[in-house]
Amino acid sequence: MLKVIASANGIVGIEAAMEVLKKGGTAVDAVEAGIRLVESNPEDTTVGYGGLPNLLGEVELDASIMDGETLAAGAVGAVKGYEHPISIARKVMEELPHVMIVGEGAERFAREMGFEKKDLLTPKAREIWEKGLKEKAPDIYGERAEYLESLRRFANLAVDPEKHLGTVNFIAMDSRGHLATGVSTSGWAWKYPGRLGDSPVIGAGNYADSRYGAAACTGRGEMAIRLSTARSIVLYMEMGLSLEEAATKAMLELARLKDRFWGRVSCIVMDAKGNHGAFSVGGPSKYVVMTEDMDAPQELPRVEIPVPNKK
Ligand code: ASP
Repeated sequence: MLKVIASANGIVGIEAAMEVLKKGGTAVDAVEAGIRLVESNPEDTTVGYGGLPNLLGEVELDASIMDGETLAAGAVGAVKGYEHPISIARKVMEELPHVMIVGEGAERFAREMGFEKKDLLTPKAREIWEKGLKEKAPDIYGERAEYLESLRRFANLAVDPEKHLGTVNFIAMDSRGHLATGVSTSGWAWKYPGRLGDSPVIGAGNYADSRYGAAACTGRGEMAIRLSTARSIVLYMEMGLSLEEAATKAMLELARLKDRFWGRVSCIVMDAKGNHGAFSVGGPSKYVVMTEDMDAPQELPRVEIPVPNKK
C-alpha cells in the first residue's frame, strides 16, 4: 500500500507526494515533491522561503534526504539563497561522492546544478525577527558595530526556542515497499550563523532503511544530534522492538537528557510493513497521513511521552 506521512506542516505537500507514488514514482521522488511545496509556502516560517533567519537576518536552510533501499543519503546545511535545499540534498546524494556539504560549498554546488537564486526573507519573517531582537535583546538591536561580538551572548539567551523552531518531515513508502525520508528546515530562529541542527545530520534528524523502518525528527535538534534519535529508532526496530516500543524508548532518552535549553522533540516513524506513528516529548503536536485509498490527508495526534521528573 502506498503511504506518506509528514509533520503537520506537510499538509500542503502530502497530496502531491501521494500523486507521485500513484504515477509510479519512487519514495525518494515522493518525499522530494512533498517537501518542495512546503519549502515554497511563504506562510510557513520554519522551512524554505519565508523561514525565520539567523541572528544576522539571513535565512540559512538545512535539509537531508535518505533512500532506505540503498542507504544512500544527501544533506546540505546553512545554505543561503536557494528555495529548495531538499532538491540540492538529493543532488548531493546522486551526483557527489559525499553525503553532506554546507555553506558556500553547498551554494556553489547548487549553482552548478542549475538551481535558481532567490531572496528567501519575506516581510513577515523579517518582522518576527526584528520584533524578537527588540524584545529580547534591545541592547543589541540596532548596534551593528557591536552586534557581531554580542552574537554568542544573544544565542545563549535561547529566544523562546519552542515558539521558533520547526521543520518539515516526510516519510514515503512506494509500490515496491521501499522507504525514503526527507527533512527540511530554516532551523532555530536567531540561531548563531552557521549553526546546524539535526535536520541535515543523517542519523540524528533523518534515517531510513527499508528493511526495518524510517524515522525523522523535529524540535530541538541539538538533543536529537546528541542521541542520534532517528537512527536509534530504526536500530531499535532492527533489534526487534515494535514501532511503538522503539519510538517510546528514543523519546524517553530525549526526556531524560540534561540540556540547558531542553525543548520539545517530535518524530514520525514508519516500519518496514508500512505501520506508522508519531511521538513527542515536551508538548503535544500532530502529524498527517495519506494512503492510496484516501481522498484527503488525515491529521492525527502524536503520542505524547510524559517527561519523568524533569527539572
Ligand atoms: N530540528 C530543527 C533544528 O534543530 C528545528 C525544529 O524542528 O524545530 O534545526
